[in-house]
Amino acid sequence: MSGEVALIPKWLVPVVPEGLVLTDHAVVIGRHQILAILPAHELGERYPQATIERLDTHALLPGLVNAHGHSPMVLMRGLADDLPLMEWLQEHIWPTEQAFAGEAFVRAGSALAALEMLTGGTTCFNDNYFFPNITAEVVIESGIRALLGLPVMNVPTIWADSEAGYIERGLSVLDEFEGHDRIGWAWAPHAPYTVTDASFERLGDLSESMDFRLHLHLLETAGEITDSQSQYQCHPIERLVRLGLYNHRLIAAHMTQLTPEEIALTAESGVHVLHCPAANMKLASGFCPVDALDTAGVNIAIGTDGAASNNRLDMFAEMRLASLNAKGFSLNPVAAPAERSLSMATIQGAKALGLDSDIGSVEVGKQADLIAVNLDEPGTTPVHNVISHLVYTAGRHQVTDVWVAGQRCVRGREIQTMDQDSVISKAHEWASKMH
Ligand SMILES: [Zn+2]
Repeated sequence: MSGEVALIPKWLVPVVPEGLVLTDHAVVIGRHQILAILPAHELGERYPQATIERLDTHALLPGLVNAHGHSPMVLMRGLADDLPLMEWLQEHIWPTEQAFAGEAFVRAGSALAALEMLTGGTTCFNDNYFFPNITAEVVIESGIRALLGLPVMNVPTIWADSEAGYIERGLSVLDEFEGHDRIGWAWAPHAPYTVTDASFERLGDLSESMDFRLHLHLLETAGEITDSQSQYQCHPIERLVRLGLYNHRLIAAHMTQLTPEEIALTAESGVHVLHCPAANMKLASGFCPVDALDTAGVNIAIGTDGAASNNRLDMFAEMRLASLNAKGFSLNPVAAPAERSLSMATIQGAKALGLDSDIGSVEVGKQADLIAVNLDEPGTTPVHNVISHLVYTAGRHQVTDVWVAGQRCVRGREIQTMDQDSVISKAHEWASKMH
Protein backbone atom coordinates (compact mmCIF):
# COMPACT_ATOMS: atom_id res chain seq x y z
CA MET A 1 0.00 0.00 0.00
CA SER A 2 1.40 3.36 -1.02
CA GLY A 3 -1.11 5.26 1.10
CA GLU A 4 -2.08 7.28 -1.96
CA VAL A 5 -5.77 7.50 -2.77
CA ALA A 6 -7.07 8.45 -6.21
CA LEU A 7 -10.57 9.90 -6.24
CA ILE A 8 -12.36 9.79 -9.59
CA PRO A 9 -15.53 11.88 -9.37
CA LYS A 10 -18.08 12.37 -12.12
CA TRP A 11 -17.39 16.10 -11.90
CA LEU A 12 -14.34 17.79 -10.42
CA VAL A 13 -14.94 21.41 -9.42
CA PRO A 14 -11.53 22.80 -8.41
CA VAL A 15 -12.93 26.38 -7.85
CA VAL A 16 -9.62 27.83 -9.12
CA PRO A 17 -10.00 28.77 -11.92
CA GLU A 18 -13.52 29.93 -11.16
CA GLY A 19 -16.23 28.15 -13.11
CA LEU A 20 -14.09 25.20 -14.28
CA VAL A 21 -15.63 21.71 -14.25
CA LEU A 22 -13.49 18.71 -15.19
CA THR A 23 -14.73 15.24 -16.07
CA ASP A 24 -12.73 12.02 -16.38
CA HIS A 25 -10.15 13.39 -13.98
CA ALA A 26 -8.63 11.98 -10.83
CA VAL A 27 -7.40 13.74 -7.71
CA VAL A 28 -4.56 11.88 -6.01
CA ILE A 29 -4.18 12.57 -2.32
CA GLY A 30 -1.25 11.62 -0.13
CA ARG A 31 -0.90 11.80 3.62
CA HIS A 32 -2.14 15.38 3.91
CA GLN A 33 -1.88 17.00 0.51
CA ILE A 34 -3.18 16.92 -3.02
CA LEU A 35 -0.40 15.23 -5.01
CA ALA A 36 -1.84 15.36 -8.51
CA ILE A 37 -4.83 16.22 -10.66
CA LEU A 38 -4.69 14.26 -13.89
CA PRO A 39 -6.77 12.62 -16.61
CA ALA A 40 -8.09 9.39 -15.12
CA HIS A 41 -6.54 7.27 -17.91
CA GLU A 42 -3.03 8.36 -16.80
CA LEU A 43 -3.49 7.01 -13.30
CA GLY A 44 -2.28 3.50 -14.05
CA GLU A 45 1.01 4.79 -15.40
CA ARG A 46 1.71 7.57 -12.93
CA TYR A 47 0.20 6.22 -9.69
CA PRO A 48 -0.06 2.46 -10.16
CA GLN A 49 -0.11 1.84 -6.39
CA ALA A 50 -2.91 4.29 -5.60
CA THR A 51 -6.14 2.98 -4.12
CA ILE A 52 -8.85 4.02 -6.56
CA GLU A 53 -12.15 5.31 -5.29
CA ARG A 54 -14.86 6.07 -7.82
CA LEU A 55 -17.44 8.70 -7.07
CA ASP A 56 -19.62 7.98 -10.07
CA THR A 57 -22.55 10.25 -9.25
CA HIS A 58 -20.68 12.89 -7.29
CA ALA A 59 -19.15 16.31 -7.60
CA LEU A 60 -15.80 16.64 -5.82
CA LEU A 61 -14.91 20.13 -4.62
CA PRO A 62 -12.91 21.88 -1.91
CA GLY A 63 -14.37 21.78 1.59
CA LEU A 64 -16.52 24.80 2.42
CA VAL A 65 -15.13 27.54 4.66
CA ASN A 66 -17.55 29.00 7.20
CA ALA A 67 -16.01 32.45 7.62
CA HIS A 68 -17.90 33.73 10.66
CA GLY A 69 -19.46 32.01 13.63
CA HIS A 70 -19.61 31.25 17.32
CA SER A 71 -19.65 27.47 17.35
CA PRO A 72 -20.80 26.72 20.94
CA MET A 73 -23.95 28.78 20.33
CA VAL A 74 -25.48 25.72 18.65
CA LEU A 75 -26.62 24.85 22.18
CA MET A 76 -28.82 27.99 22.05
CA ARG A 77 -30.30 27.12 18.66
CA GLY A 78 -33.98 28.07 18.64
CA LEU A 79 -33.86 29.36 22.22
CA ALA A 80 -34.89 32.94 21.38
CA ASP A 81 -36.09 33.64 17.85
CA ASP A 82 -37.90 36.47 16.13
CA LEU A 83 -36.57 39.31 18.27
CA PRO A 84 -34.69 42.58 17.57
CA LEU A 85 -30.89 42.15 17.74
CA MET A 86 -30.24 44.12 20.93
CA GLU A 87 -33.17 42.60 22.80
CA TRP A 88 -32.13 39.14 21.58
CA LEU A 89 -28.53 39.75 22.65
CA GLN A 90 -29.04 41.60 25.93
CA GLU A 91 -32.13 39.85 27.31
CA HIS A 92 -31.62 36.30 26.05
CA ILE A 93 -28.19 35.40 24.69
CA TRP A 94 -25.91 37.23 27.13
CA PRO A 95 -27.83 36.14 30.29
CA THR A 96 -27.85 32.52 29.07
CA GLU A 97 -24.12 32.73 28.40
CA GLN A 98 -23.52 34.28 31.84
CA ALA A 99 -25.33 31.38 33.45
CA PHE A 100 -23.98 28.48 31.39
CA ALA A 101 -21.09 29.26 29.06
CA GLY A 102 -18.25 27.56 30.92
CA GLU A 103 -15.73 25.00 29.74
CA ALA A 104 -18.13 22.05 29.62
CA PHE A 105 -20.73 24.06 27.68
CA VAL A 106 -18.10 25.15 25.16
CA ARG A 107 -16.80 21.61 24.78
CA ALA A 108 -20.31 20.18 24.17
CA GLY A 109 -21.30 23.03 21.84
CA SER A 110 -18.10 23.04 19.81
CA ALA A 111 -18.36 19.27 19.36
CA LEU A 112 -21.95 19.52 18.13
CA ALA A 113 -20.98 22.37 15.78
CA ALA A 114 -17.99 20.41 14.42
CA LEU A 115 -20.25 17.41 13.85
CA GLU A 116 -22.90 19.52 12.08
CA MET A 117 -20.33 21.31 9.95
CA LEU A 118 -18.22 18.30 8.95
CA THR A 119 -21.21 16.17 7.95
CA GLY A 120 -22.58 19.16 6.00
CA GLY A 121 -19.41 19.72 3.98
CA THR A 122 -17.75 22.51 5.97
CA THR A 123 -14.10 21.66 6.58
CA CYS A 124 -12.87 24.95 8.07
CA PHE A 125 -14.54 27.54 10.30
CA ASN A 126 -13.65 30.93 11.72
CA ASP A 127 -14.83 31.23 15.31
CA ASN A 128 -15.16 33.79 18.06
CA TYR A 129 -16.20 32.52 21.48
CA PHE A 130 -15.11 32.16 25.08
CA PHE A 131 -12.79 29.25 25.94
CA PRO A 132 -11.20 29.00 22.46
CA ASN A 133 -8.68 26.66 24.12
CA ILE A 134 -11.51 24.15 24.62
CA THR A 135 -12.76 24.62 21.05
CA ALA A 136 -9.15 24.02 19.94
CA GLU A 137 -9.16 20.64 21.69
CA VAL A 138 -12.42 19.76 19.90
CA VAL A 139 -10.91 20.85 16.56
CA ILE A 140 -7.89 18.60 17.13
CA GLU A 141 -10.05 15.61 18.12
CA SER A 142 -12.74 15.99 15.43
CA GLY A 143 -10.41 16.47 12.46
CA ILE A 144 -11.92 19.79 11.33
CA ARG A 145 -9.82 22.91 10.65
CA ALA A 146 -10.34 26.32 12.28
CA LEU A 147 -9.16 29.86 12.76
CA LEU A 148 -9.97 30.49 16.42
CA GLY A 149 -10.52 34.00 17.73
CA LEU A 150 -9.20 35.18 21.07
CA PRO A 151 -12.20 37.17 22.29
CA VAL A 152 -11.96 40.72 23.65
CA MET A 153 -14.82 42.89 24.91
CA ASN A 154 -15.63 45.28 27.74
CA VAL A 155 -18.40 43.03 29.06
CA PRO A 156 -17.26 40.91 32.05
CA THR A 157 -17.82 37.18 31.62
CA ILE A 158 -16.57 33.94 33.11
CA TRP A 159 -13.70 34.09 30.58
CA ALA A 160 -12.37 37.48 31.71
CA ASP A 161 -13.52 40.49 33.71
CA SER A 162 -11.90 43.34 31.75
CA GLU A 163 -10.56 44.00 28.27
CA ALA A 164 -6.99 43.72 29.60
CA GLY A 165 -7.98 40.44 31.24
CA TYR A 166 -9.31 39.10 27.93
CA ILE A 167 -6.05 40.02 26.18
CA GLU A 168 -3.91 38.39 28.90
CA ARG A 169 -6.05 35.28 28.82
CA GLY A 170 -5.75 35.18 25.02
CA LEU A 171 -1.98 35.39 25.23
CA SER A 172 -1.93 32.55 27.74
CA VAL A 173 -4.02 30.38 25.37
CA LEU A 174 -1.38 30.94 22.70
CA ASP A 175 1.34 29.89 25.15
CA GLU A 176 -0.62 26.77 26.03
CA PHE A 177 -1.02 25.66 22.41
CA GLU A 178 2.00 24.68 20.42
CA GLY A 179 1.52 25.16 16.68
CA HIS A 180 -1.05 22.75 15.31
CA ASP A 181 -1.46 22.22 11.56
CA ARG A 182 -5.24 22.56 11.55
CA ILE A 183 -5.53 25.50 13.97
CA GLY A 184 -4.80 29.15 13.36
CA TRP A 185 -5.43 32.03 15.76
CA ALA A 186 -6.86 35.53 15.41
CA TRP A 187 -7.66 38.40 17.74
CA ALA A 188 -11.41 38.78 17.99
CA PRO A 189 -12.56 42.10 19.45
CA HIS A 190 -16.35 41.68 19.58
CA ALA A 191 -17.54 44.95 17.97
CA PRO A 192 -16.77 48.69 17.97
CA TYR A 193 -19.50 49.24 20.59
CA THR A 194 -17.98 46.76 23.06
CA VAL A 195 -14.26 47.60 22.69
CA THR A 196 -12.46 50.79 23.78
CA ASP A 197 -9.90 52.74 21.78
CA ALA A 198 -7.09 51.71 24.13
CA SER A 199 -7.81 48.01 23.61
CA PHE A 200 -8.21 48.42 19.87
CA GLU A 201 -4.78 50.11 19.78
CA ARG A 202 -3.21 47.27 21.73
CA LEU A 203 -4.87 44.67 19.49
CA GLY A 204 -3.71 46.58 16.42
CA ASP A 205 -0.12 46.36 17.67
CA LEU A 206 -0.47 42.70 18.61
CA SER A 207 -2.11 41.67 15.35
CA GLU A 208 0.57 43.50 13.38
CA SER A 209 3.51 42.04 15.27
CA MET A 210 2.02 38.53 15.28
CA ASP A 211 0.57 38.84 11.75
CA PHE A 212 -2.84 37.81 13.07
CA ARG A 213 -6.23 38.58 11.61
CA LEU A 214 -8.50 40.95 13.56
CA HIS A 215 -11.96 39.37 13.52
CA LEU A 216 -14.66 41.94 14.29
CA HIS A 217 -18.44 42.44 13.99
CA LEU A 218 -18.78 45.68 12.04
CA LEU A 219 -21.81 47.65 10.83
CA GLU A 220 -24.23 44.88 11.68
CA THR A 221 -27.02 47.44 12.21
CA ALA A 222 -27.70 51.13 11.54
CA GLY A 223 -27.94 51.75 15.30
CA GLU A 224 -24.23 51.01 15.62
CA ILE A 225 -23.45 54.11 13.56
CA THR A 226 -25.59 56.53 15.57
CA ASP A 227 -24.25 55.07 18.84
CA SER A 228 -20.67 55.56 17.64
CA GLN A 229 -21.41 59.10 16.59
CA SER A 230 -22.73 59.97 20.03
CA GLN A 231 -20.03 58.09 21.97
CA TYR A 232 -16.95 58.67 19.79
CA GLN A 233 -18.14 61.57 17.59
CA CYS A 234 -17.37 59.55 14.49
CA HIS A 235 -18.51 56.72 12.26
CA PRO A 236 -17.19 53.24 13.28
CA ILE A 237 -15.16 52.97 10.05
CA GLU A 238 -13.66 56.42 10.64
CA ARG A 239 -12.72 55.29 14.13
CA LEU A 240 -11.04 52.12 12.85
CA VAL A 241 -9.18 54.13 10.19
CA ARG A 242 -7.99 56.56 12.87
CA LEU A 243 -6.84 53.63 15.04
CA GLY A 244 -4.89 52.18 12.09
CA LEU A 245 -7.01 49.03 11.96
CA TYR A 246 -8.76 49.39 8.61
CA ASN A 247 -6.37 47.18 6.63
CA HIS A 248 -5.91 43.70 5.12
CA ARG A 249 -5.73 42.06 8.56
CA LEU A 250 -9.29 43.15 9.37
CA ILE A 251 -11.98 40.55 8.70
CA ALA A 252 -15.28 42.32 9.25
CA ALA A 253 -18.50 40.39 9.76
CA HIS A 254 -21.81 41.75 8.42
CA MET A 255 -21.07 45.19 6.89
CA THR A 256 -24.73 45.89 6.16
CA GLN A 257 -24.51 49.69 6.25
CA LEU A 258 -22.02 50.86 3.65
CA THR A 259 -22.01 54.00 1.51
CA PRO A 260 -20.38 53.98 -1.97
CA GLU A 261 -17.41 55.91 -0.50
CA GLU A 262 -17.00 53.32 2.27
CA ILE A 263 -17.17 50.50 -0.29
CA ALA A 264 -14.34 52.16 -2.25
CA LEU A 265 -12.32 52.65 0.96
CA THR A 266 -12.91 49.00 1.94
CA ALA A 267 -11.58 47.86 -1.45
CA GLU A 268 -8.52 50.15 -1.27
CA SER A 269 -7.75 49.08 2.30
CA GLY A 270 -7.91 45.34 1.58
CA VAL A 271 -10.44 44.74 4.38
CA HIS A 272 -12.19 41.37 3.98
CA VAL A 273 -15.98 41.18 4.37
CA LEU A 274 -17.57 38.18 6.10
CA HIS A 275 -21.09 38.11 4.70
CA CYS A 276 -23.77 36.39 6.82
CA PRO A 277 -26.95 36.55 4.74
CA ALA A 278 -29.22 34.37 6.90
CA ALA A 279 -28.34 36.06 10.20
CA ASN A 280 -28.71 39.53 8.69
CA MET A 281 -32.15 38.69 7.34
CA LYS A 282 -33.30 36.87 10.48
CA LEU A 283 -32.36 39.77 12.74
CA ALA A 284 -33.50 42.30 10.08
CA SER A 285 -30.13 44.00 10.40
CA GLY A 286 -29.87 45.16 6.79
CA PHE A 287 -28.26 43.97 3.59
CA CYS A 288 -24.59 43.62 2.85
CA PRO A 289 -24.11 45.23 -0.59
CA VAL A 290 -22.46 42.15 -2.09
CA ASP A 291 -22.84 43.19 -5.73
CA ALA A 292 -21.24 46.61 -5.17
CA LEU A 293 -18.47 45.19 -2.96
CA ASP A 294 -17.73 42.46 -5.51
CA THR A 295 -17.63 44.98 -8.36
CA ALA A 296 -15.25 47.15 -6.32
CA GLY A 297 -12.92 44.15 -5.87
CA VAL A 298 -13.48 43.51 -2.15
CA ASN A 299 -12.78 39.96 -1.01
CA ILE A 300 -16.12 38.63 0.33
CA ALA A 301 -16.38 35.40 2.32
CA ILE A 302 -19.55 33.73 3.60
CA GLY A 303 -20.40 32.79 7.19
CA THR A 304 -23.35 31.34 9.03
CA ASP A 305 -22.85 33.38 12.22
CA GLY A 306 -23.86 31.56 15.41
CA ALA A 307 -26.67 29.03 15.29
CA ALA A 308 -28.70 31.17 17.69
CA SER A 309 -29.21 33.67 14.85
CA ASN A 310 -29.38 31.48 11.75
CA ASN A 311 -30.27 28.68 12.97
CA ARG A 312 -28.17 26.35 10.79
CA LEU A 313 -24.44 25.96 10.30
CA ASP A 314 -25.22 25.07 6.72
CA MET A 315 -22.94 26.52 4.07
CA PHE A 316 -25.05 25.10 1.22
CA ALA A 317 -28.03 27.10 2.46
CA GLU A 318 -25.77 30.12 2.93
CA MET A 319 -24.32 29.99 -0.60
CA ARG A 320 -27.81 29.93 -2.07
CA LEU A 321 -28.90 32.83 0.12
CA ALA A 322 -25.76 34.81 -0.76
CA SER A 323 -26.63 34.67 -4.44
CA LEU A 324 -30.35 35.33 -3.97
CA ASN A 325 -29.80 38.11 -1.44
CA ALA A 326 -27.24 39.87 -3.69
CA LYS A 327 -29.65 39.82 -6.63
CA GLY A 328 -32.66 40.89 -4.57
CA PHE A 329 -30.86 43.74 -2.84
CA SER A 330 -29.14 45.11 -5.95
CA LEU A 331 -32.09 44.42 -8.28
CA ASN A 332 -29.46 42.93 -10.57
CA PRO A 333 -30.14 39.35 -11.70
CA VAL A 334 -26.52 38.78 -12.73
CA ALA A 335 -25.16 39.73 -9.28
CA ALA A 336 -23.34 36.96 -7.35
CA PRO A 337 -23.67 34.20 -9.96
CA ALA A 338 -23.39 30.61 -8.73
CA GLU A 339 -19.66 30.32 -9.42
CA ARG A 340 -18.97 33.50 -7.43
CA SER A 341 -20.95 32.29 -4.39
CA LEU A 342 -19.04 29.02 -4.56
CA SER A 343 -15.77 31.01 -4.59
CA MET A 344 -16.98 33.08 -1.64
CA ALA A 345 -17.70 29.87 0.28
CA THR A 346 -14.28 28.36 -0.51
CA ILE A 347 -11.24 30.21 -1.87
CA GLN A 348 -12.42 33.68 -0.84
CA GLY A 349 -13.14 32.40 2.67
CA ALA A 350 -9.65 30.90 2.76
CA LYS A 351 -8.20 34.22 1.60
CA ALA A 352 -10.06 36.15 4.30
CA LEU A 353 -8.67 33.79 6.92
CA GLY A 354 -5.15 34.05 5.47
CA LEU A 355 -5.22 30.34 4.56
CA ASP A 356 -5.50 30.50 0.77
CA SER A 357 -2.04 29.06 0.16
CA ASP A 358 -3.18 25.89 1.97
CA ILE A 359 -6.92 25.47 1.37
CA GLY A 360 -9.94 26.79 -0.55
CA SER A 361 -9.41 25.08 -3.92
CA VAL A 362 -8.41 21.75 -5.39
CA GLU A 363 -4.85 22.46 -6.50
CA VAL A 364 -1.67 20.40 -6.37
CA GLY A 365 0.27 21.09 -3.17
CA LYS A 366 -2.74 22.28 -1.19
CA GLN A 367 -4.12 20.41 1.77
CA ALA A 368 -6.57 17.66 0.83
CA ASP A 369 -9.69 19.33 2.26
CA LEU A 370 -12.30 17.84 -0.07
CA ILE A 371 -15.99 17.03 -0.13
CA ALA A 372 -18.00 14.70 -2.34
CA VAL A 373 -21.59 15.68 -3.09
CA ASN A 374 -23.91 13.04 -4.54
CA LEU A 375 -26.16 14.63 -7.16
CA ASP A 376 -28.01 11.41 -7.94
CA GLU A 377 -31.37 12.24 -6.42
CA PRO A 378 -34.61 13.64 -7.85
CA GLY A 379 -34.06 17.20 -6.65
CA THR A 380 -30.71 17.49 -8.41
CA THR A 381 -31.75 15.79 -11.64
CA PRO A 382 -30.97 16.48 -14.46
CA VAL A 383 -27.52 18.06 -14.24
CA HIS A 384 -27.13 20.73 -16.90
CA ASN A 385 -24.72 22.78 -14.81
CA VAL A 386 -23.02 21.25 -11.81
CA ILE A 387 -21.98 24.54 -10.17
CA SER A 388 -25.54 25.84 -10.48
CA HIS A 389 -26.74 22.72 -8.65
CA LEU A 390 -24.13 23.05 -5.89
CA VAL A 391 -25.28 26.60 -5.12
CA TYR A 392 -28.98 26.74 -5.95
CA THR A 393 -30.20 23.18 -5.60
CA ALA A 394 -28.14 20.72 -3.58
CA GLY A 395 -28.53 20.35 0.17
CA ARG A 396 -25.92 19.49 2.76
CA HIS A 397 -27.50 16.04 3.19
CA GLN A 398 -26.03 15.21 -0.23
CA VAL A 399 -22.49 15.45 1.15
CA THR A 400 -21.38 11.84 1.45
CA ASP A 401 -17.64 12.00 2.08
CA VAL A 402 -15.33 14.56 3.64
CA TRP A 403 -11.55 14.71 3.90
CA VAL A 404 -9.62 17.27 5.94
CA ALA A 405 -5.85 17.34 5.45
CA GLY A 406 -6.25 13.96 3.80
CA GLN A 407 -8.05 12.40 6.76
CA ARG A 408 -11.39 10.79 5.95
CA CYS A 409 -13.69 12.49 8.48
CA VAL A 410 -16.99 11.42 6.86
CA ARG A 411 -17.50 8.20 4.90
CA GLY A 412 -20.85 7.39 3.28
CA ARG A 413 -22.53 10.13 5.38
CA GLU A 414 -21.16 8.63 8.63
CA ILE A 415 -18.81 10.67 10.80
CA GLN A 416 -15.57 8.73 11.35
CA THR A 417 -13.77 10.98 13.80
CA MET A 418 -16.39 11.62 16.49
CA ASP A 419 -18.83 9.64 18.58
CA GLN A 420 -22.05 11.07 17.16
CA ASP A 421 -24.40 9.55 19.77
CA SER A 422 -22.37 10.91 22.64
CA VAL A 423 -22.13 14.41 21.10
CA ILE A 424 -25.90 14.52 20.61
CA SER A 425 -26.76 13.18 24.04
CA LYS A 426 -24.49 15.79 25.69
CA ALA A 427 -26.28 18.53 23.74
CA HIS A 428 -29.63 17.23 24.99
CA GLU A 429 -28.31 17.26 28.56
CA TRP A 430 -27.32 20.94 28.19
CA ALA A 431 -30.70 21.83 26.70
CA SER A 432 -32.49 20.32 29.68
CA LYS A 433 -30.35 22.38 32.09
CA MET A 434 -31.20 25.57 30.23
CA HIS A 435 -34.96 25.30 30.77
ZN1 LIG B 1 -21.35 36.95 14.92
